[in-house]
Amino acid sequence: MTTDLHHAPSAQYDCSHDLSHTNTMALACVADTVVTLQDEAQLDSFMTSYVKNTGHNLPLFVLSGGSNVLLPTQLQAIVLRPQMHGITLTDQTQDYVDIEVMAGENWHDLVIHTVNQGWYGLENLALIPGLTGAAPVQNIGAYGVQLEDYLQYVRAYHLPTKTWHSLTATDCEFGYRDSIFKRTPNTWLISRVGFRLHTDETKVLASYGDVQTVAQRYAEQQGRMQPAPADVMHAIIDIRQQKLPDPKQLPNCGSFFQNPIISQNQFISLQSNYSDIVGYPMPDSMVKVAAGWLIEQAGLKGGGIEPIVTHKKQALVLTNHRPYQATQDDVAIAQNHIISCIYEKFAITLAREPVWVNTNGTVGYGEHGV
Ligand SMILES: Cc1cc2nc3c(=O)[nH]c(=O)nc-3n(C[C@H](O)[C@H](O)[C@H](O)COP(=O)(O)OP(=O)(O)OC[C@H]3O[C@@H](n4cnc5c(N)ncnc54)[C@H](O)[C@@H]3O)c2cc1C
Repeated sequence: MTTDLHHAPSAQYDCSHDLSHTNTMALACVADTVVTLQDEAQLDSFMTSYVKNTGHNLPLFVLSGGSNVLLPTQLQAIVLRPQMHGITLTDQTQDYVDIEVMAGENWHDLVIHTVNQGWYGLENLALIPGLTGAAPVQNIGAYGVQLEDYLQYVRAYHLPTKTWHSLTATDCEFGYRDSIFKRTPNTWLISRVGFRLHTDETKVLASYGDVQTVAQRYAEQQGRMQPAPADVMHAIIDIRQQKLPDPKQLPNCGSFFQNPIISQNQFISLQSNYSDIVGYPMPDSMVKVAAGWLIEQAGLKGGGIEPIVTHKKQALVLTNHRPYQATQDDVAIAQNHIISCIYEKFAITLAREPVWVNTNGTVGYGEHGV
């Protein structure tokens, strides 16, 4: 693409950029142009020159850690990469601290940093890959905590109008793995996230799965009667490392399918054939079914269509066995195979969790098929 982007001061441009190593699924991808943003002023100047030089025709796509995206082989868009760094303490009392974190900070490093400082709340979200600026997009959650529980505000740039906004947690319209940013893709670039964390070492949430047992072990090693937030964090890191493949060893993008929500009637009818079906009651007589269980029951654990195969220990995770060569098409083939097998067996349609990025930079969420 012959776009004169070099008028925009300071922001770093890289044409025909290979993004194969910048997505945890390790899909082959080359983008037309990548713009690395080290600070907010660079975004302002880039947007001014971009509009001036291109007439605003080129699509924009924001890419952070690449742990929740399925990239196309050719990405004919301008890829904006927020790389702003910094963690600022903005307020502090005996009970809480307020911090502001720039979008380019690594999420897991932030969690460790806050716990080490005695600032608590984020410990249950340890080891989630990606950068802080992406965390509000799907309101990341794990082990009973969601980002929205500690988020106070987001500073974000509205790309269509080229204006800065401060959005409260309410403005972000958070839902389960959902937010305004997810529902209006290609619209916002989040540059800072504000959190209010607490300082009470006795307040932990360890009731989920094995967390209590493992955290108690850590606590006893430290001579503590009860688990402290640091013990919960270490427990969750241990559990996740055992359960989930490390994308650096075996490329993947975490849970590939959402847990489907079906009617209670359908659930009861399935229960008559599969007495051990795993379901969680939801409002309005609906039941959430474990997608991993469905995939395992269909005999697809460790299966799929090479090179995209479900993990042998965690059926919900699709792994790439041909890193940097496999393409989005390979993912589509394996994904559609799994979706049709599950539909044939259970009459349930699985929906994808990671973001499907089209060649022109637009995105799709949750669709089945391409
Ligand atoms: C092994 C593994 C485990 C995971 N476990 C969990 C888990 O337990 N819970 C959970 O919720 N998620 C989990 N995920 C998913 C993923 O880590 C999160 O969604 C994470 O927040 C994505 O961050 P990222 O920086 O990689 O974003 P990317 O993949 O780069 O981007 C994801 C989406 O956000 C948009 N985006 C990114 N940055 C910005 C920004 N600054 N402003 C506006 N839009 C932006 C992108 O355009 C894209 O649509 C897991 C993923 C993996 C690989």
